[in-house]
Amino acid sequence: MNLNLHPALQATDPETADLIAREAQRQRNVLRLIPSENYVSDAVLAATGSCLTNKYSEGYAGKRYYQGQQYIDAVERIAIDRARKLFGADHANVQPYSGSPANLAVYFGLLNQGDTILGMSLPHGGHLTHGWGVTISGKHYNVARYGVRQNDHRIDLDEVRRLAHEHKPRLIVCGASAYPRIIDFAAFAEIAREVGAYLLADMAHISGLVAGGAHPSPVPFADVVSTTTHKTLRGPRGGMLLCKAEHAAAIDRAVFPGLQGGPHNHTTAAIAVALHEAATPEFQTYAHRIVENARALADRLLSHGFTLVSGGTDNHLILVDLNNKGVSGKIAAQALEGAGIVCNANSVPFDPRKPFDPSGIRLGTPALTTRGMGPAEMVRLADWISEVVAAPADTAVQTRIAGEILDLCGSFPAPGV
Ligand SMILES: *Cc1c(COP(=O)(O)O)cnc(C)c1O
Repeated sequence: MNLNLHPALQATDPETADLIAREAQRQRNVLRLIPSENYVSDAVLAATGSCLTNKYSEGYAGKRYYQGQQYIDAVERIAIDRARKLFGADHANVQPYSGSPANLAVYFGLLNQGDTILGMSLPHGGHLTHGWGVTISGKHYNVARYGVRQNDHRIDLDEVRRLAHEHKPRLIVCGASAYPRIIDFAAFAEIAREVGAYLLADMAHISGLVAGGAHPSPVPFADVVSTTTHKTLRGPRGGMLLCKAEHAAAIDRAVFPGLQGGPHNHTTAAIAVALHEAATPEFQTYAHRIVENARALADRLLSHGFTLVSGGTDNHLILVDLNNKGVSGKIAAQALEGAGIVCNANSVPFDPRKPFDPSGIRLGTPALTTRGMGPAEMVRLADWISEVVAAPADTAVQTRIAGEILDLCGSFPAPGV
């Protein structure tokens, strides 16, 4: 097996090396449909695994607490410049450790404890960090929640406006983890303006689509935009904040020293590389192809009688409501994994089932698109999904399909693994 692992890793810790090698093999040999996942390039991987992990650099470029920052400062400045240019933002902070701390930094920087946040409800597609009760965002702030309409599963902007006027939030959060449609950032900005609230747009899932011109950008409309860097943007695991000039100082202070210590410089370097890649014409093609593939997958699933939340998709993900198939999301996800199709069980709006075994599965096309798969492969995939879900206990079907998928994967090599 050529696993591209560094010989030192193999020699020093064969046990961990073996597990990494097996994970690489898994990532090569299955169809990865979790919409928040991807394959980074060899270049991004190389920066992530670089000696920048050895350096401490609390502070910001030119204002550090330790010496030896000549190259780290340059790396962070490059990452910031690329982020600002790619997204057209006044200011960028590339230090958040990931998407969740990025959001927390926004709350910490712009709000006082106990202020009101209006965010999207988790079971309707929002993220935990948008004010869900078990999180710090739900415990330290007062939260009002909006959702989608029951009839068409679109964000109910009338409800958002009504709740905004009723609760007078200090901040409104838009952006989602399981919403298959375009988000109308201009409409959110207008509602925020009406009630004097800040608008935070969390584009964690879609920042790659935004960068590639396949989804409208929130940057012109939101006070602050947060994102992960490892989802459709296809960088290392990390977070990033973009904001208007007037919020730059508050946001920077909130990230450091407010919330974090030393930035992860190897991650910053890998973000710089990913942003460089995201500025290329190839990335634009990739972003549009993600959406094209999601449509092709959705259309074929519809033809197999699947119910899709909102009836389809405008972006990189599809939420399948399995209630009419008589299978739970968990059972379906487990059966699909047996066939080499890896997705996650997910609540659907107004789900009659419990969150741990909800009614739906969530499917996304970013990772398959990175491998070079197109609409023809999406049709085969939908056919396989249909076959597995029709007989989730049939392990012979799963084994046969897993073999067919292994063949297919051989024709679409994944970067980095
Ligand atoms: C993934 C996600 C996050 C959190 O990112 P982590 O890197 O997992 O902390 C935040 N917001 C949204 C909308 C997300 O989908």
